[in-house]
Order: sequence, then structure tokens, then C-alpha cells
Amino acid sequence: MKFIGAHVSAAGGVANAAVRAAEIGATAFALFTKNQRQWRAAALSGATINEFKAACEKHRFGPGQILPHDSYLINLGHPVAEALEKSREAFIDEMQRCEQLGLTLLNFHPGSHLMQIPEEACLARIAESINIALDKTEGVTAVIENTAGQGSNLGFKFEHLAAIIDGVEDKSRVGVCIDTCHAFAAGYDLRGSEACEKTFAEFERIVGFQYLRGMHLNDAKSAFASRVDRHHSLGQGNIGHEAFSWIMQDARFDGIPLILETIDSDIWGEEIAWLKAQQVQTATV
Ligand SMILES: [Zn+2]
Ligand SMILES: [Zn+2]
Repeated sequence: MKFIGAHVSAAGGVANAAVRAAEIGATAFALFTKNQRQWRAAALSGATINEFKAACEKHRFGPGQILPHDSYLINLGHPVAEALEKSREAFIDEMQRCEQLGLTLLNFHPGSHLMQIPEEACLARIAESINIALDKTEGVTAVIENTAGQGSNLGFKFEHLAAIIDGVEDKSRVGVCIDTCHAFAAGYDLRGSEACEKTFAEFERIVGFQYLRGMHLNDAKSAFASRVDRHHSLGQGNIGHEAFSWIMQDARFDGIPLILETIDSDIWGEEIAWLKAQQVQTATV
């Protein structure tokens, strides 16, 4: 079974994210549990937590269908000790917020070396940051997202994801989220079924589908291998609709949140309906 949704707004309270997701016919959703551009947020109140849980229950979203995303400010591979510490604290706070909301996944961008430390050292720092956070929390899996490789962001190669996982002690609580736009911009071709087969065979070889905890389904405004992160609506960018149809027909993407972060939220409902319709062809397989 495929869980399909979008990264919806949590404005007015996290419970509203579940309501908004239901309104567009989603069976999955992503959200920020706090303002993603600020370091600090008020703690979640008991009432907020209860409202969120009630909304999720009402609209039938289980924890496996919800993929919260952490703040963009956090850099778990920061080269400077104090800044790294600040990021680690904020990440633990994000994990604890998920824990309080009964959520089991937290999606984040791995980190950046800022041209100050070697890639390997940065990847080791990221793994260590995850170890610290997993040690201080329970029940939440750290879900590393692949990146387009803009600036000094790591995570644009499957090998980076594998190296981070390798450094994590509790392998049962680490996973990955593959963003199709980021992968394409990083040089993993997805134009057509054959290209998809090849890219995900490489993913299987280097990372492994057992670590796949979510997908971000985005077409790309940016060019192939450009290392530029610009999302587009499905079928309107340089990837094209075939990749998304292919994903919907492959059982390896079952049971995980498949999340749109496409640029036109007005057509998310249509995009979700289109994605759902792509599955029909596999019903007999
Ligand atoms: Zn993404
Ligand atoms: Zn992106």
C-alpha cells in the first residue's frame, strides 16, 4: 500500500497539518513541528499534543504515514564546536517533539562542511550527532535526506548516506528519505523507467531499501547533475512524469510516506489523485 501526501502547513497548530492533508485526499503528510527558520520554539502543550493525536486518528494517519522535517538551521556536521553543539541541542529538541506527538520518523538534511573540514570528517560528525540524539530519545528514527549538493551540503551521493549509516550505532533507528529532485540534480538520472531502474539498483547496492523510510516526490526545475535544488510540479520539470509513475508501480516504495514538496500547493490534490491512479496498473502483478 502506498501512502501519498504533501508537506502541508502547520500554521495555527500542528493538528491543522493533519486536517489540511485530509482535505487534499492525502494518505500521508509532512510537517514542521516548529517554525523551521527559528532556533527555539515554545514547548508543545498537552492540549496541542492531544489535538494533534485526535486529528491524526480522525483522519486515519498513523505514525508511519507522517514524516516530520526538522529546522533548516540545524547542521549536524558543523565544523565549529559551539555551532555543532547548538545544532545538536536543537536536533534533540526536534526528536523530543516528535516523541511527544507520538511520531516515529524525523527527516533532516545531513549537514555541511562549510569548506572547513574534509567530507569524511563532516560525515563522521553527522553520525556522531545522530548517535547522541538517538541516545537521548526513544522510538524516533533519524531519517537522513539525500541532497542536491548545493554549496557544501553533503548527502548528494548515496555513498554519503551509507557512510553516515555506517557510523550510527543503532541501525534500527536510522533511515533515509530520497528526494527525487535532489537525486536528479546530484546526477542520478530518473528520466524514464530504465534510468529509474538503474538509479535505484545503485541505491540498493550502496544504501539498501531496508533503510528507505520515505520519499520526497518532486520534479526538478534544475538541470540534470547541476547540483542546484529547484523543485517543480510533477511532469512539468526535467525529470518528467514517467519516474513518478514508475515509483507508484514498484512495491519497494510501499508502506512509507511519499511526500510532495512541489511548488504549486494549489494542485497538490490533483497530483495526489494522479499518483494514486498510477498504482492501478500494478493491481494484478
Ligand atoms: Zn526534500
Ligand atoms: Zn529541495
